[in-house]
Amino acid sequence: MSNTCFSLALHGGAGAKRGHDYTVEIAHMRGLVEAARDRLAAGASALDVAVETVVGLEASGLYIAGKGASPNAEGEYELDASLMDGATLRAGSVAALQGFKSPILAARAVMEQTPHVMLAGQGAIDFARELGLETVEDPRTWFTHAGAFEDNHPPDTLPTGTVGCVVRDAQGRLAAATSTAGVFGKRPGRVGDSPIIGAGAWADGHAAVSCTGQGEYFIRTAVAAQIAHRVRFGGQTLEEAARAAIQGVADLGGHGGLVSVDRDGHVAMPFASSGLKRAALLLDGTIVSEAF
Ligand code: ASP
Repeated sequence: MSNTCFSLALHGGAGAKRGHDYTVEIAHMRGLVEAARDRLAAGASALDVAVETVVGLEASGLYIAGKGASPNAEGEYELDASLMDGATLRAGSVAALQGFKSPILAARAVMEQTPHVMLAGQGAIDFARELGLETVEDPRTWFTHAGAFEDNHPPDTLPTGTVGCVVRDAQGRLAAATSTAGVFGKRPGRVGDSPIIGAGAWADGHAAVSCTGQGEYFIRTAVAAQIAHRVRFGGQTLEEAARAAIQGVADLGGHGGLVSVDRDGHVAMPFASSGLKRAALLLDGTIVSEAF
């Protein structure tokens, strides 16, 4: 363990269920944190590390994003992702994207290669195709449906399992990235908080946040931006701000969690749900990786 001038946190969703063994996910998340630490030590930017980490989470098939996606109520895979660069306040997102392996790469391209922040549906598909992003040939064999064991749930409970990452790099820049297949059994066209800048992801000069949970509640309370604004305008610590925002979700009857980091590199990862798959590199060099 040694002190670092950077820190990060990632999550694999707030859908962790008691009684399920998350050994594989916990080891996987730790490995991603170690890789991110090495990249940050070599001078990589917060934005690059956040995106690379989410690409790793998407590609693993272990979480309900990217390869691990679960289908909507009509058996189609509609994926959402977003990212924000705290240093420039640039942001990009895609919603209801079908047919591509890494929605976060499409979101990054929206930010860097268009004058827009969000592309949705067919427009997002056309854009990703123009870019030549990697396509899913056969959804029936590609997707692992990582949350299958969580499928047995009462209607209207909206079980969850998004991925995300927040980073504070050695130069003090912050970034956030989030990617998801959304909640189980969602209607076609349903869009949650993950691609909504300020709800499922936010980064500015004060805090970076990535959320997971029942997205409707996170949109209604603008959780990600709310936390940064509590820190910036309300003088709260990141921990106080993050806890208050999650409490706001719980007060409405929703559940979920988040990972966050502030300009000084402090990390907060509260949840109001059965568990939160999460991992972090703290400023003293400690790595944590846990599900509850
Ligand atoms: N927040 C995501 C959504 O509502 C789901 C999740 O976190 O798993 O789409």
